[in-house]
Amino acid sequence: MDGTPDVVVGPASPYATTADRAAMDLALAEARAALATADVPVGAVVLGPDGAVVGRGRNVREAVADPTGHAEVVALRQAAAALGRWRLDGCTLVVTLEPCLMCAGAVLQARVPRLVFGAWDEKAGACGSQWDVVRDRRALHRPEVVAGIAAAEAAELLRTFFR
Ligand SMILES: [Zn+2]
Repeated sequence: MDGTPDVVVGPASPYATTADRAAMDLALAEARAALATADVPVGAVVLGPDGAVVGRGRNVREAVADPTGHAEVVALRQAAAALGRWRLDGCTLVVTLEPCLMCAGAVLQARVPRLVFGAWDEKAGACGSQWDVVRDRRALHRPEVVAGIAAAEAAELLRTFFR
């Protein structure tokens, strides 16, 4: 199937905080909610500078027929609206699957300083798998990347969906 992620569970980064793990639980809940709309179960949450949730999103590509309707983009838009600024300084994006090219680009555009994700997507991932946009030396912004958080849960949701 076109767009099926090649999901890989890697080791969890030792740099994840308790807040990251709690936010990942919320992102997983968003991913589960996507199942009701026939969308690929990927969920995302944005934590504001004070640690509060300022954005949530899940894949809505099918639900609203939007090619850019990825969980990360939805969550980043909501966070920017909530904070009243496009620069998401001090924020953390937490997402269940390694971001694609578009979403990794959105992380850079939003100047998100910290990215936390779950499973790797070896087919379309742009944060270390197929591409490494977030660590590209040519990029104007390079976020800290914390990978492998609750990866088994994220992967299981995706595998169940595509089975
Ligand atoms: Zn994406």
